[in-house]
Amino acid sequence: MSIAELGPYDFLSPPKIVFGWGRRREAGALAATLGRRALLVEGSRTLRQSGAIDEILVSLTSAGIETVAVAAISHEPEVHDIDRTVAAIRELRTGRRSSALLDEPTGDTNGDDFVLAVGGGSAIDLAKAAAALVTQNENASVGDYLEGVGRGLQITQPPLPVMAMPTTGGTGTEATKNAVISSYHPPFKKSLRSERMLPRIVLVDPELSVSVPPAITAWTGMDAITQCIESYISRRAKPVAQALAAEGLRRAVGALVEAVRDGRSRTAREAMSHAALLSGMALANSGLGMAHGVAAALGVHARVPHGLACAVMLPAALATNRAVCELLLARLARCVWDEFWPSDAAAAAAMIERIDELCQAVGVPRQLRELGVRREQLPKIARDSRGNSMDGNPRTLTDDELLRLLEDLW
Ligand code: NAD
Repeated sequence: MSIAELGPYDFLSPPKIVFGWGRRREAGALAATLGRRALLVEGSRTLRQSGAIDEILVSLTSAGIETVAVAAISHEPEVHDIDRTVAAIRELRTGRRSSALLDEPTGDTNGDDFVLAVGGGSAIDLAKAAAALVTQNENASVGDYLEGVGRGLQITQPPLPVMAMPTTGGTGTEATKNAVISSYHPPFKKSLRSERMLPRIVLVDPELSVSVPPAITAWTGMDAITQCIESYISRRAKPVAQALAAEGLRRAVGALVEAVRDGRSRTAREAMSHAALLSGMALANSGLGMAHGVAAALGVHARVPHGLACAVMLPAALATNRAVCELLLARLARCVWDEFWPSDAAAAAAMIERIDELCQAVGVPRQLRELGVRREQLPKIARDSRGNSMDGNPRTLTDDELLRLLEDLW
């Protein structure tokens, strides 16, 4: 095999990553390095009911950390969710500052707070965005900071530190530098992005994901798989990220069916949580592609959950890109399955076929109409698929080509 050329690259990742079954009980000791007050953002009522959140709170209390719940969210975050959480945190911090002025005039009370996110991608993105905005000098809406739609405001001040504990084993947002925010009126799904937004501590306890229902396991798992593949073949792909993506994909394709079939399977949940983390590290450094670009538009125009939208788009995106990235797809197939194929064309074809089979095995529909998408929505979906993800797609598609592709998939 020939050695591929290496260009210059940067690599970004959270400074501390802690991974392991049951390790949520170490939350307090880890969090104590960030501050003395946890501003908690929660993303699952099930975890409250199962007692998992209480275990985390006990660990925080034993480490001398006070916890204040600032938000709970079980839908993909919208502009008003972020703005409301920022306002709640600002109010809390103003109260603390004024009482501190009376009690301890020389104390540094701003250094105490950090944001703790325990939940899926929705909760972690809400936490990352709120932590970033609350320290900015402008009292503006998150909408003003979003890529492509905002006023171009930037994150110039250091955010509050974030500790992220993912619970869906899918998005990898615990390791990325952006938060994805939706609006339905007007319709957009865009990122707040800054290198300052990488969580400071990532605590991945795969046991937290055992209660994720089978359909959500399938969708979020396919999100991780899509992220591994799209970041690997992206125009902006970087070598460290590609190594992580290949390892993430290898784990995920071997485990997703089992995780969906038996949510309590420790090996499957560990593999999926690990794959999701790696997929986040990969996408943060390499970008994504067409499946993610269209998924954002499907989210705002037809309210399709993010992972499901990625999963439906992935086989079509691979087929469309194949002509311009056959070698990369072949390389990835060989990393993942460690098999012999007589040609790159055969290996790339096997990759596309196996991903399609995996989608079928976990119940991903083949057609957009099965997701509730109406045919007349397709032109808007094509138009709103443009943005950071689509810019990374290996093949450049005109608006007409993209629309035709969506019509075929409808
Ligand atoms: P989610 O966070 O919306 O969670 C899906 C559902 O599962 C919710 O109802 C939630 O309450 C529930 N849930 C979460 N954990 C659970 C548990 N342990 N047990 C039972 N139920 C549980 O879904 P998601 O797929 O994790 O996140 C989707 C969001 O993440 C989207 O907005 C997407 O755009 C975003 N995302 C962001 C990035 C990034 O880099 N910022 C990357 C990928 C996806």
